[in-house]
Amino acid sequence: MDSFLNLIGGKSVPARDGRTYEHVCPSDGRPFATAPRSSAADVDDAVRAARAAFEGAWGRTPAVERGRLLMKLAEAIRREAEPLAALEARDTGKPMKQARADIAVTVRYFEFYAGAADKLHGDTIPFLEGYTVLTLREPYGVTAHIVPWNYPAQIFARSVAASLAAGNACVVKPGEEAGLTIVKMAELAREVGFPEGALNVVHGIGEEAGAALAAHPDIDHLSFTGSPEVGTLVQAAAAKNHVGCTLELGGKSPQVIFADADLEACLPTVVTAITQNAGQTCSAGSRVLVERRAYDEVVGRLAERFARVRVGTHEMDLEMGALVSETQRKRVQGYVDAALAEGVPVIARGKLEPGLPAGGFYVEPVLFGPMPRANRLACEEVFGPVLAVFPFEDEADAIRLANGTPYGLVAGVWTRDLGRGMRLARAIRTGQVFLNAYGAGGGVELPFGGFKHSGHGREKGFEALYGFTALKTVVVRH
Ligand code: NAD
Repeated sequence: MDSFLNLIGGKSVPARDGRTYEHVCPSDGRPFATAPRSSAADVDDAVRAARAAFEGAWGRTPAVERGRLLMKLAEAIRREAEPLAALEARDTGKPMKQARADIAVTVRYFEFYAGAADKLHGDTIPFLEGYTVLTLREPYGVTAHIVPWNYPAQIFARSVAASLAAGNACVVKPGEEAGLTIVKMAELAREVGFPEGALNVVHGIGEEAGAALAAHPDIDHLSFTGSPEVGTLVQAAAAKNHVGCTLELGGKSPQVIFADADLEACLPTVVTAITQNAGQTCSAGSRVLVERRAYDEVVGRLAERFARVRVGTHEMDLEMGALVSETQRKRVQGYVDAALAEGVPVIARGKLEPGLPAGGFYVEPVLFGPMPRANRLACEEVFGPVLAVFPFEDEADAIRLANGTPYGLVAGVWTRDLGRGMRLARAIRTGQVFLNAYGAGGGVELPFGGFKHSGHGREKGFEALYGFTALKTVVVRH
């Protein structure tokens, strides 16, 4: 069994009270590593280390040098890509090709923000005669990052790279089910020369280390990705300390297919958008809305493709792996069983490969439809490989249906009529809309975030840098 440590103030340390917990490989259900089960005292150590870095060597590091360090970290992660991908796959159960793609995107985040670090600046503002007014974009200070288990490496990089580029010192709490690659990457940051305390990692359980971090009075900004329930707790903790927080809370994202769509381009993407990472993706395309006059053709061809999805261990490297935990497996299976009990028709199922390890957390991907609009699967996030198909009548109906959930993260619109595509792009209330595409390979340059219950604040691209800085206005009378 491998044992992992926290990284606090540049030192690899166990929890102060020595407690640990186990990480289980979802492919076979067996424990393979331990991580510190940190308490509030460990979180406090990490926040103090980050504060000292911000007030010390890291806070004095100029933007150009921060960029160089981030680029060195990107290169170090690229050099270690294969072992990092193997660890990510073992920890999450995702197929190796997915884990490799995740590490490639992780590298891109560090590269992008390396290049951006010295291009972030304020403005001058025309004002009264005899005045010069300028704005400064300043780092907040210490930022906290609570990361989920579904894309540990990517989501870590997404918020930490932007925050470090802006000049903040970071404290990261990885998800308890998976997130061991995070401390490995933080150790690489130490090796390439980040000052001690600039990047700290504290492992542990959400209600313990996560809650202690969210509530810590010396945090200046919080970044959270995960469930809406915990997002509410994190926001309440931030409110008590009067600090801002960025929340990314998942979605129920629609793929809207009109009769004139290029199905050859559309259908493989629709299948991947729900089976990638076994559907455990905040931006999973979990609803397919199909124009009624093309319903039979689209659903027939979609079913063929969907039935070809195979499920296996991370090492078998098929289209899909196991879910992250037994809890998630039961939760997803619960949604499937409820829909079956209500008599919702099954259009197609993917296949579990024969001979999978008995202890693994596997579910068959399922394509349901036509799905009644009042069903739970029409509006609740399953976070699993369950796709629901809905017929729609016309453009207005498609917009109503697309917007008909509490979420608003991503949407895909498939049509050859670009005028119609643009009308939908304006009318659908999601943070990203793709026309004749979906996802786009990580898209680290593309601002990302939610409307409605999907959260608030924007990550990725330059927007994330603005989100990790405070704007100061300096007024000079002369
Ligand atoms: P979660 O919200 O419980 O966990 C996310 C992170 O928050 C983890 O690091 C966890 O340790 C931490 N956390 C948990 N309780 C906390 C608390 N009280 N205070 C502070 N931090 C806390 O998510 P989950 O249990 O891993 O998954 C449950 C559901 O959340 C999923 O089924 C899915 O619907 C959703 N989810 C969404 C995303 C996303 O990308 N939007 C990611 C993961 C999970």
